[in-house]
Amino acid sequence: MRIPFASPRRRLRRLPALAALVLAGSLVVPAAVSAEPDLAPAALGRPALAADYEVAFLDQYEKIKDPANGYFRQIGDLLVPYHSVETLIVEAPDHGHETTSEAFSYYLWLEASYGRITGEWEPFNKAWRSMETYIIPATRDQPTNSGYNPSDPATYAAEHGDPSEYPSRLESDVPVGQDPIAEELSAAYGTDEIYGMHWLLDVDNTYGYGFCGDGSNDRPAYVNTFQRGEQESVWETVPHPSCETFAHGGPNGFVDLFTDDEEYSKQWRYTAAPDADARVVQVAYLAKTWAEAQGNGSAVSDAVSDAARMGDYLRYSMYDKYFKRIGDCVGAAACPGGTGKDSSHYLLGWYYAWGGADAGAQYPWAWRIGSSAPHQGYQNPLAAWALSQDADLRPRSATGAQDWAKSFDRQLEFLQWLQSAEGAIAGGASNSWGGSYEQPPAGRAKFHGMAYDQQPVWHDPPSNQWFGFQVWGMERVSQLYHLTGDERAKAILDKWVPWALANTTAAADGSFEIPAELRWTGQPDDWSGSPTGNPNLHVSVSGTTSNDVGVASALAKTLLYYAAATGDASSRLTGESLLEALLAHSDDKGIAMPETRSDYERFDDPVHVPQGWTGSMANGDPIDSSSTFASIRSFYEQDADWPKVQAYLDGGPAPTFTYHRFWAQTEIATAFATYDELFPQG
Ligand code: CA
Repeated sequence: MRIPFASPRRRLRRLPALAALVLAGSLVVPAAVSAEPDLAPAALGRPALAADYEVAFLDQYEKIKDPANGYFRQIGDLLVPYHSVETLIVEAPDHGHETTSEAFSYYLWLEASYGRITGEWEPFNKAWRSMETYIIPATRDQPTNSGYNPSDPATYAAEHGDPSEYPSRLESDVPVGQDPIAEELSAAYGTDEIYGMHWLLDVDNTYGYGFCGDGSNDRPAYVNTFQRGEQESVWETVPHPSCETFAHGGPNGFVDLFTDDEEYSKQWRYTAAPDADARVVQVAYLAKTWAEAQGNGSAVSDAVSDAARMGDYLRYSMYDKYFKRIGDCVGAAACPGGTGKDSSHYLLGWYYAWGGADAGAQYPWAWRIGSSAPHQGYQNPLAAWALSQDADLRPRSATGAQDWAKSFDRQLEFLQWLQSAEGAIAGGASNSWGGSYEQPPAGRAKFHGMAYDQQPVWHDPPSNQWFGFQVWGMERVSQLYHLTGDERAKAILDKWVPWALANTTAAADGSFEIPAELRWTGQPDDWSGSPTGNPNLHVSVSGTTSNDVGVASALAKTLLYYAAATGDASSRLTGESLLEALLAHSDDKGIAMPETRSDYERFDDPVHVPQGWTGSMANGDPIDSSSTFASIRSFYEQDADWPKVQAYLDGGPAPTFTYHRFWAQTEIATAFATYDELFPQG
């Protein structure tokens, strides 16, 4: 149920329609540019750039903010972005009107770019208030942190290869380390609560859990999906409320699908996606820089201060999951818990999470975990730089800024270590092989004692297969290089950019082709303090895409920052050509292209539920050992797009959708704004 928009939206100054520009032929660029990194634009007889990217940004911005286009749920005067305009979509979120911390980080980027161009910062501050109000758990959402004991952060439970091996037994005899930052965080902020975003919200309450299972729909509901190891794809998940009151699911709610214990308690738990929180810090730094350039730094100073605080707590993702010692940590029972900070890898792990007893518990308890498995695509050395070097972003805690200074170097070393012979960046490393501190395969390369993993954390699909993780990561590195001139960043990009250019084309008719999927072979050399060139680590492009507009614009951004920093003509030309190709695909809601979803056959995938376990979803859908993805989400049968999926499941052709994903549409908008900033057109 949507809450109608209550107030008329302020109109932007009137903009010329971009479609008219396209029809006038003014966006024509040479065909098939970019294959040769050393090809100068002059050699192509290229006409002067015609698109005005400030106009392009504002046009895209207006479409995203137009209430008629359905990108947001409005609650009072605040907006909550959906994952996508369209409701029937399954990827990391399992419904389009869920949202993610990623979407909020892009919402802030959109509004920061708007502030740079217009000088108006209230929309940015409003986005910040929405983030604080709806996706950073409030006191009522995390009520029992006072019961947290930093010398005993969490009870160990092994991760397993397949969802069928769950629930996982809690093992209180396995040693865990101590949490060295809890006390300084509590002292700095005067609270035991965590200041970080949970990764997933059910914005419209499609599942019906509401607040702590009460079904209310005055605001989005905190929910979660993934719980069961590296083979649990979204198609195998059981969506459940973050606040577990046993109101739904089975007699123990959903807890005993995931965890095997003597008895079960009502509880709450949240999981941060560190790349999103880091992107918020990155964007806050950009907003500060832009507002200060306008002589108006105070307009965003509250948000910048809050970003520093978010960065302080984001350090939890730098720790081994159970605060065990980093390096050669083999055997859950044998590998000791860490002391001080020897349980920190100083990289952005895949998550951090925290939880505790429900508000009514007689004896409050709480837990916190880090992440043993850093992935290359999550690293954000620009955020680390800001959190250690910028006076307004250095966190308030005793050791926050120095930890980020160490992380800055460690992240750049990590990317150097993972750079393939061709230039692309390989997956990552793990301090806990298999999620249960197994012995890594013999001969595995090591980084500070952690084993190379070409697919950290998840295998269905392989976690570093997606080219998007290349461009998300390298965009930060190229922005960092543009900002600081860091030589390590330059060296990484000098190798990555030619590889990306050699695998990218963009043509005058709006067609483009970029990598979609990568295949990895071999492994890096052991890290010994400086890069070796990794002659035994290789990447190949195993699939390309001609319709992924979000990744194309992220690639353009990366290339444009590199071009601005180096003067490299080929990367600028290809970046421009990608943006102009995107402009050829404008529609009423943004810039989008149809995509065929053969993976939607997995709507019929079985969802593992142990024999004998029975329960129900909030809407009454039964949960038992014959459940499927679709059977515990019967609301999809009411979706206007469902007949296309049903026809496919009945043997028809794979369905085609034209999606407007929030992150992709805002990535496009901010890529236009990036061009306008780096190459002003007068
Ligand atoms: Ca699977």
